[in-house]
Amino acid sequence: MNKIIKIVLTFTILFSFGIIFFIGYLYLSDSSVMNKIRTGFEFYLLSKKGDTYSNIDVLHYDLNVEVFHKEKRIAETAKIKLVVTNKEVKNIVLDLYDNFDIEKLKLNGDNVKYKYDNDRVFIARNDFEADTFVVEIKFSGKPKNLGFGSFIIDTLNGNWFITTLNAPNFASTWFPCNDVPSDKATAKLSVLMDSNFVSLSNGILKKVITMGAKRLYVWQTRYPIAPYLITIYSSEYKTFSHVYNSMQIDYYVTENKFAKAKKDFSKHPVYLKVFSELFGEYPFIKEKYGVAEICWEHGAMETQTITGMGSIFISGLNFYESTLVHELAHQWWGNSVTPKSWKDVWLNEGFATYSEALYYEREKGKTAYKSTMRDFKNKIDFDADNTLYNPGINLFSSLVYNKGAWVLHMLRKEIGDSLFFIGLKKYYEIFKYSNADSYDFKNVFEIISHKNLDRFFNQWVFEGKGGIRLALSWKVKKNNNVNFAELNIIQQQSGYENYHFPLDVEIVDTFGNKTEYTPYIVSDTTLTFVLENGIGNIIVDKDDWLLAVFE
Ligand SMILES: [Zn+2]
Repeated sequence: MNKIIKIVLTFTILFSFGIIFFIGYLYLSDSSVMNKIRTGFEFYLLSKKGDTYSNIDVLHYDLNVEVFHKEKRIAETAKIKLVVTNKEVKNIVLDLYDNFDIEKLKLNGDNVKYKYDNDRVFIARNDFEADTFVVEIKFSGKPKNLGFGSFIIDTLNGNWFITTLNAPNFASTWFPCNDVPSDKATAKLSVLMDSNFVSLSNGILKKVITMGAKRLYVWQTRYPIAPYLITIYSSEYKTFSHVYNSMQIDYYVTENKFAKAKKDFSKHPVYLKVFSELFGEYPFIKEKYGVAEICWEHGAMETQTITGMGSIFISGLNFYESTLVHELAHQWWGNSVTPKSWKDVWLNEGFATYSEALYYEREKGKTAYKSTMRDFKNKIDFDADNTLYNPGINLFSSLVYNKGAWVLHMLRKEIGDSLFFIGLKKYYEIFKYSNADSYDFKNVFEIISHKNLDRFFNQWVFEGKGGIRLALSWKVKKNNNVNFAELNIIQQQSGYENYHFPLDVEIVDTFGNKTEYTPYIVSDTTLTFVLENGIGNIIVDKDDWLLAVFE
């Protein structure tokens, strides 16, 4: 997910649910400027649903959804195939916000007792020998619009849009599910709407059936998908396509945005090629990639195989390329390799953010990479009071995105370029179509690098908060005709007592000759540098490899 702030003349600051939220507008002419104002601010509300409970493993969702857009209502039949993972469990429990009317509920074809309460359906198990069940629930009502806008039915520029945005755990506002990222399943989604609507979902379009004044779109994905990535987008879309490696890239936009989208979306085959080379082949190559215009004014969402791009960000001037790149990167980082729980959200957002820098490095070179990383650094709160791992209610904060990206950047420095990229591919290869956590990621890089990375991960991911505040001072001395400089280094941050890190130091002599050193700093220290010709200047971390501010 990538949220974009627009600034119009002045900032309006809204306090909403305790979160500061900027809205506005500024016309921008280049995407690097865009990076500066794009941020990871969040209005995430902690749902009462956690990451933890579950006695089931869902195998398949078969969802038939009829949308009555003018009434903002749905009628749905969900068939869910699942395995009960605990033999003793008496009730099969599915998440479903309790504002719907359930008309029918069957378990393996039988009417059974159930309780629909506290945003869950508790279904009495009718067979204690069987472990596999099909739950069928027929229900209707007006979906709640929670989180980022879990089920939006609205108009924009004269067009109706249906936009679903379930992250992090609001899929259950419109279908019964095990609403955790760790329980992936296959899915079939059938959407029935008035026949002027084109309805989109994950995977492959299996059929389109016109039924009088209505039209049914049936989509299916055979790749495992987490509930928060299952989607419906619907509008009066027009479409155009590209091809990458024999796979269709399909774009769906309204007439208003068609010409602009043709310009903005044109480089997707290049983005796909770059990331496939860096990480491994595009994860859903047997199905599709797509981008759809959606009515969400805060950015874009990486729903699996079909990214939703907020309509106002389709500019025709390529202002938001980094957002398109970011969402595509999520197909690897988040959608294919999905976090085991939201405590590891940086494995999604930090990776997708860092992928933006990797893309610019590939396409535009080192300078573009460095300036992108500097932009990310400028957005990091060095005095943040939460860790990257398990950031609590700051689940989608700027820290998660930008410090997450910086941890990967520093890991690259720590183990070197070639091992870093081997490690990324290895991590992807092992965990694709599955789930991983920060420890899994660390283990892969320890095996690849033959290094113990306990301290690196403790200070940057699990325990350290914010970044390093480094007080530096140096003085030149002369002893027995020998010129030397003393560089004094003191850590002053409050978020972690003593970081260990490699520090690039460049010594420039009085003739302008340069010598580079990279001492490994493990405590407050004074480094001594001797130079024949006298010392003119000392430059520290000139290539920006350290998440530190120098004071
Ligand atoms: Zn993202």
